[in-house]
Amino acid sequence: MNKKVRVRFAPSPTGGLHLGGVRTVLFNYLFAKHFDGDFIVRIEDTDQSRFVEGAEDYIFKTLAWCGLEPDESPRHGDQQSKYAPYRQSERKSIYKKYAEELIAKGFAYYAFDTSTELEAKRKEINNFQYNHATRLQMKNSLTLSKDAVEKLLKDNTPHVVRINMPLNEEIKFTDMIRGEVSFNSSQVDDKVLLKADEMPTYHLAVVVDDYLMNITHAFRGEEWLPSAPVHILLWQYLFGLENMPQWAHLPLILKPDGNGKLSKRDGDRLGFPVFAMDWVDPKTNEITTGFKERGFLPEAFVNMLAMLGWNDGTDQEIFLMSELIEKFSMEHVHKNGAKFDYEKAKWYNGEWIKRTPTYNLRFAIYDLLKSNEIIPDENKLEQVIELVKDRCTLLTDFVQQSSFFFKSPETFDIAAIQPKWNEQKNLFFLELIREFELMQFWNHDSLENEFKELASANQIKPGELMLPLRIMLVGGKFGPHVFNIAEILGKEETIKRIQHTLKLLTSTT
Ligand code: GLU
Repeated sequence: MNKKVRVRFAPSPTGGLHLGGVRTVLFNYLFAKHFDGDFIVRIEDTDQSRFVEGAEDYIFKTLAWCGLEPDESPRHGDQQSKYAPYRQSERKSIYKKYAEELIAKGFAYYAFDTSTELEAKRKEINNFQYNHATRLQMKNSLTLSKDAVEKLLKDNTPHVVRINMPLNEEIKFTDMIRGEVSFNSSQVDDKVLLKADEMPTYHLAVVVDDYLMNITHAFRGEEWLPSAPVHILLWQYLFGLENMPQWAHLPLILKPDGNGKLSKRDGDRLGFPVFAMDWVDPKTNEITTGFKERGFLPEAFVNMLAMLGWNDGTDQEIFLMSELIEKFSMEHVHKNGAKFDYEKAKWYNGEWIKRTPTYNLRFAIYDLLKSNEIIPDENKLEQVIELVKDRCTLLTDFVQQSSFFFKSPETFDIAAIQPKWNEQKNLFFLELIREFELMQFWNHDSLENEFKELASANQIKPGELMLPLRIMLVGGKFGPHVFNIAEILGKEETIKRIQHTLKLLTSTT
């Protein structure tokens, strides 16, 4: 490639970011970084009716969380550069001249139909489309005289500019994933390019901006494939096809059963996140949970997304970002949709928790525990994380797995011990307390030895005493090795918990 690679993610700020959107970001980012190119984020906010407060902020926070920082965007890079501004609403004045150029060349026309007139046509014709079949029945610069058009324009009559789709032409392009793709132009309607308020529609703005921003490759979701013929024609009419970026339409992310595109509703229905981070709808205050808040590490989220529709041709599943950048290539992106599997997503997270150095987890876990009203002892936190991290697939699992180290359990699963409880065991634990009190070296090995010796002296199988001890220290049947727990709890706290549970057991027997 001789031109510097420049790719773009072009979101419309309309709400939370779906994992498919983040995967589009990721593939753009990986491709750009692989070729030492630029990754640009352009905010496509020309449809003011769909604008949602806070959505742009959310997009940039999400990218920062994922470690996918743009080189250029309304918030990155030089805002005085020849490519700025990066918000389409701030570029409004740029587009009109291109619409006029298209009209002058006969590739577009003015349309003066009012919404009432269009409504009437929709009632009259089933599945009405403004296209080659109907355009000559409408009020536009193709049907009105030149003078009439001039007068309407002079009087500031509201109007739009529409593309004049040619009849029966084959529109072809090569997609980097799908190969040769072709459309018949007659199947595409005369899309609006410039609206009555002179704001461009997406179709015009995307082409003009990809051109002006020197975009070399345009990667986007498969749902944009039907718009491609309009974009190809606009490229041909305005800038010549040789300047056009190379296209790639990324495969959809499918529902777990493979039946259609994964939607936010599927997540709600099946109990898993679909958005990257929590999204709070500013109108309803409804919260949609994100992967971040559900307990995903960004490294795991990104790794999992990379594998939805791509692999490096080997069986490798766990990739560092640097490896993804090195190995990513469009040739290995699949044509077919990728089924989303939440269990597999969690597996990635578990693997990443294991691989992440404990020190790097401590801040996140500290905050998490604090938000659950547990104040972790900072001197013990890393030791605890190290001990329980293998048991956690989500960061949120650390709450259950580590709270009891810092706060005595609120409840103890006495019912799990009671059926086999007897006076002999009671005496054993009373003796154990005395032995523990005398111990000089409080570490898991010496605790275990002491415990086992005492069990054998009392002729009780240690196995029968382990569950009671676990319940006494943890409250329930979970957690790492019980003597490691006792070691971290320390002598005083261990004895206190045993005494407390013994009391509970005697008061209920
Ligand atoms: N603004 C479009 C979107 O919201 C961008 C599609 C494209 O990349 O061309 O996804």
